[in-house]
Amino acid sequence: MIRENLAQVHANMEKACENARRDPGEVRLIAVSKTKPVEMLRQAYACGCREFGENKVQELVDKYDQMPGDVKWHMIGHLQRNKVKYIVDKVALIHSVDSLKLAQEISREALKKQVKVPVLIEINIAGEESKFGVGPNEAENLVREIALLPGIKVEGLMAIAPYVENPEENRQYFARLRQLSVDISRKNIDNVNMNVLSMGMSGDYMVAVEEGSTCVRVGTGIFGERQYPVK
Ligand SMILES: *Cc1c(COP(=O)(O)O)cnc(C)c1O
Repeated sequence: MIRENLAQVHANMEKACENARRDPGEVRLIAVSKTKPVEMLRQAYACGCREFGENKVQELVDKYDQMPGDVKWHMIGHLQRNKVKYIVDKVALIHSVDSLKLAQEISREALKKQVKVPVLIEINIAGEESKFGVGPNEAENLVREIALLPGIKVEGLMAIAPYVENPEENRQYFARLRQLSVDISRKNIDNVNMNVLSMGMSGDYMVAVEEGSTCVRVGTGIFGERQYPVK
């Protein structure tokens, strides 16, 4: 099942690239494996997946220990400052930096472990109350402040688009995020590049790719629906 799903996602990504006349080599697929057992991650790994996304520190660390060393781990969920120390030297990219305080903590822990941590700035692109992320208008200032921290490298922007029935409704938000990244990139801020645009999930990744995503985060489309324990 995972093999077929992955083939389908890759085919869709290629189609979207073709629609937008983009090089498929520019877009990475992150397999979002949150809540899924390691056995399923191993299946995806066997199919060639090397990039996995998790949204909880404990779960990421557990899976990190059980999976091969060449996996690139992406922290895509809201990150609490007191948990930063457990993952700074384990992640390839933190997608969810949305405050200076969090960035300062990442930088501090990175220096202790003598690593430099690549991060994305999370943008609340549709201004939703329920979402984390900074507003588009605050993004440049936050990027400028974070760029001064020695343990961090800013590599781009991330957004979670609204939940919609029709992915076309999110095209405007993806286009807006892309424009924001171009605007910030033009400022030529030291220690900042805008190479990564992390946008698009199972329901809307084709539209996201058409609008310039370089990094889609697909969970359900690869591993199937998530079941959360009843509390
Ligand atoms: C869960 C999650 C995803 C994947 O969502 P699907 O709809 O299952 O593809 C992507 N990004 C973030 C930040 C997530 O938390």
